[in-house]
Amino acid sequence: MSATEQEPWQWDEATWRGHVGAVRAGRPLRPARWPGGARAAVALSFDSDHETIPLRNDETQPGKLSQGEYGSRTGVPRILRLLRDRSIPATFFMPAVSGLLHPEEVRAYVEDGHEVALHGWIHERNMQLAGADERELTFRAADTLETLSGKRPVGIRTPSWDFSDNTLAISRELGLLYDSSLMADDEPYEILDHGEPTGMVEIPVEWIRDDAPYFTMDRYTSSRPYTPPRGVLSLWRDEFDLALEEGGLFQLTMHPHVVGHRSRFAVLRELIDHMGQFDLWYATHEQLAEYVKRECGL
Ligand SMILES: [Zn+2]
Repeated sequence: MSATEQEPWQWDEATWRGHVGAVRAGRPLRPARWPGGARAAVALSFDSDHETIPLRNDETQPGKLSQGEYGSRTGVPRILRLLRDRSIPATFFMPAVSGLLHPEEVRAYVEDGHEVALHGWIHERNMQLAGADERELTFRAADTLETLSGKRPVGIRTPSWDFSDNTLAISRELGLLYDSSLMADDEPYEILDHGEPTGMVEIPVEWIRDDAPYFTMDRYTSSRPYTPPRGVLSLWRDEFDLALEEGGLFQLTMHPHVVGHRSRFAVLRELIDHMGQFDLWYATHEQLAEYVKRECGL
C-alpha cells in the first residue's frame, strides 16, 4: 500500500512531518518601530471578486451575477470615496477576469494610489487544479493585471485562501514579494519552503478578520448570516485594540459585494472612525511587506 492509500493514522513519522514541514512559518518579521513612530500598522484589503465567484461556480444566471455586479457598480465607488476622504491606502486583490470585466475600476485603484494584487484568474479553486494549470492561470493573471494596471503585481492572495501544494513554488517562480493567504500568526513572517528560508513575506489573514463568513447567505443552502453587523464591528474593534496594545499589525479582508452594502459599510466607517483616534501607519500590503523585510534585515 502506498503512502497516499494509507489512512492518516497509518502514516509513519516521516509522512506526517513531511506534510507539516512543506510550507511553514519562519522567522517573525516584527519591526522595532513603525514609520513615523506610529503605535501600530493597519493594512486594509478588499478582494474585488465581483462576478467571478458565481462564474467560478458555473452559476451563470443573471440573478447570481447581479450580486457580484453590485460590488463593482455600488460597493467600490462607496469604498473608494471613504478611503479618499480618510487618506487611507489599501490593497485590492482582483481576479484577472474581474479586472477584464471592469478595466476602469482597475484604473481608479491606481489613480487613487492603491495597490492591485493577484487573486487568481477566475477565482479558481487551486486545490482542485493540477499544478500546471494553477501555474498557467497564475502567470496569465499576473500578465493581465500588469496590462490593466500598468504595474506588475508583487503580491498574491489565493482565491478563497486556497493555498495548494503547488502555490508556493509558483509564487516563488513569479518572484513575488509577499503572500497573503496563510494563517500561522497575527504578525508578518518569512515563509519556509521545506525548512528553507524563502525571503518571501507572509501577511497573514484569518476568517475572523474577513467580512464574508459573517454576512454571506445562500438561498438554497443553510448558509445564513449569524452575526449582526454591529457584532462584527465589536469583533473587529477587539482585534484592532489588541493589535494596538501589542504595537503590531491589524490586517482586514473585505469584499466590495459584501461590505459595500449600506448596513455593513456603516461598520467599516465606524471602525475607521475608532482607529482614527490613534497614531497609526496605514499601508498597502506591498508597503508593509517591503517595510518589514527591510527593517528585519530579510
Ligand atoms: Zn476572493
